[in-house]
Amino acid sequence: MAGKSKKNKSLNFSKISDTDSSTSSEEEEKKKKRKRRVVMKRGNERPNPHQTGKPTKSTVVDIEDFSDELTVSKIRASLLDWYDENQRVLPWRKKRGSSIEPDEEDERQTFKRAYAVWVSEIMLQQTKVATVIDYYNRWMDKWPSLQHLAQATQEEVNEMWAGLGYYRRARFLLEGAKMVIGGGEFPRTVPQLLKVRGIGDYTAGAIASIAFNESVPVVDGNVVRVIARLKAISANPKESETIKSFWKLAGQLVDPCRPGDLNQALMELGATICTPTSPSCSSCPISEQCHAFSLSKNSQSVQVIDYPLKVIKPKPRREFSAVCVVEILDDQKGTCSNMSSRLLLVKRPEEGLLAGLWEFPSVLFDGEGDSGTRRKVMDQYLKKSFDLDTRNCSVISREEVGDCIHIFSHIRLRMYVELLVINLNGEEKILSEKEGNDTIAWKCISSNAIEGMGLTSGVRKVYNMIQQHKQKTSLIYSRKKKNTQTK
Ligand code: SF4
Repeated sequence: MAGKSKKNKSLNFSKISDTDSSTSSEEEEKKKKRKRRVVMKRGNERPNPHQTGKPTKSTVVDIEDFSDELTVSKIRASLLDWYDENQRVLPWRKKRGSSIEPDEEDERQTFKRAYAVWVSEIMLQQTKVATVIDYYNRWMDKWPSLQHLAQATQEEVNEMWAGLGYYRRARFLLEGAKMVIGGGEFPRTVPQLLKVRGIGDYTAGAIASIAFNESVPVVDGNVVRVIARLKAISANPKESETIKSFWKLAGQLVDPCRPGDLNQALMELGATICTPTSPSCSSCPISEQCHAFSLSKNSQSVQVIDYPLKVIKPKPRREFSAVCVVEILDDQKGTCSNMSSRLLLVKRPEEGLLAGLWEFPSVLFDGEGDSGTRRKVMDQYLKKSFDLDTRNCSVISREEVGDCIHIFSHIRLRMYVELLVINLNGEEKILSEKEGNDTIAWKCISSNAIEGMGLTSGVRKVYNMIQQHKQKTSLIYSRKKKNTQTK
């Protein structure tokens, strides 16, 4: 929120980790020295099915490698056969062949594939496949190649990304595209890919293995689940040592001839068969090698869904904000017609949460505050930021609309929304004087145009509240009018 009063504060973006990060060489060095043992803290966790005797405060769990080559070969063969038969048809899986003639160079197709994998994998991080399909298709229609994307503006990319969340990813995707095009060569290996803005271990592994056939693993939540069950690993999957173990185990499973397909098969199995709460073990191609499945058959106290260990997420911190939707009536009569009104939008700072995105004027509070305090602080903000003095301009109406909650990954934001309708009476300079200055960017957009804008989910929520409020109040008004006429 772009508030500038002392009470305002920016939502802390530092805790959001929406891009994967590469392992530093220092960490690698430590990794080599460290013994491959994982300490599992016990607390809110499910019991370890392997554990006998009285649980102790902490338990050391060894994660063994896939040491049996025959088992690994069977798992690979079963997964690849199953994947060939059962893979879902997804737009990023087919080659973007519609625009590629068969006689075009393979190299060009490979780069298109790499671009498709890059975009889809970034979109898929913490977003469901069903949601991503539509976004992906629209994205590819607009920017069918990396060259096209590199020419886009941040504004256009934000617009296209609106509603997907984790907007920093979209920003990094654009910056990464510009970086690659500027470098003149598409990076092909994991170390090269990791140098690109926004590409971390996961995305690098996906691009290198799927597009360039490099024999490297990919580990996402689905892969963690499948491997945790396959090996009956009860260690905390969020611990850094355990994560490293999953990468190592996934690396041992990668098929050297078909690395991309094997990685996709593991992810596909986790997404469709080995699901979090209701795995279909009877139709699983690797049930014979699955340790958790075997344990569950031999003991009623063990279920495959005991793996991986469920880690309770910390509660998101609570934040409160006052949101003022400022509607400016353009006609001199000051009638509340959507056709002749504009809404004030403010651009968020270029750094931090929802960087560079548009929102209604908002101010964050330390606590909920009462409506009087919220209004007072909002008035100060409007005056300071836009020279908009609610005491001097013509206020047609000012109403509390209600509140709504928007959840970010680590924040639960309660927004108190009000609608302020004003008429500038031709005094456009009240707002226009400050447009585009260094400290705050804002624009007035017609109510009709905002419908088609790419708004973030939080802003869309507020906008819908306003629309519902208007419908309700106009209904009440017309009923009152009707009653008065019949009397
Ligand atoms: S057998 Fe069941 S638990 Fe094991 S990998 Fe297959 S679906 Fe998952």
